[in-house]
Amino acid sequence: MPQHFFRDWTAQAACQNSDPELFFPLTWDGRPARHTALARRVCLACPVRLPCLNWAVETAEPDGMWGGTTPTERRGLRSARERRPAA
Ligand code: SF4
Repeated sequence: MPQHFFRDWTAQAACQNSDPELFFPLTWDGRPARHTALARRVCLACPVRLPCLNWAVETAEPDGMWGGTTPTERRGLRSARERRPAA
């Protein structure tokens, strides 16, 4: 992946001015569901949601909300991608 790819899409991130705790909670255990829902709502309206999600899945980003997904959800997506037959 070219180095500029990451910089290009982050400049358009809808979460740039959001509360970091909303996207990077200290723990996901016991986190109020409404906090996850609030972050996901920002992501769903974000113009760079797909590159963000792809980056997080491809790099196995272990923390935070990326592309509207939690770490647990991304692990599931990554597993599904790994099981998918090569084209
Ligand atoms: S998809 Fe979500 S986490 Fe990714 S840049 Fe957009 S608002 Fe931020």
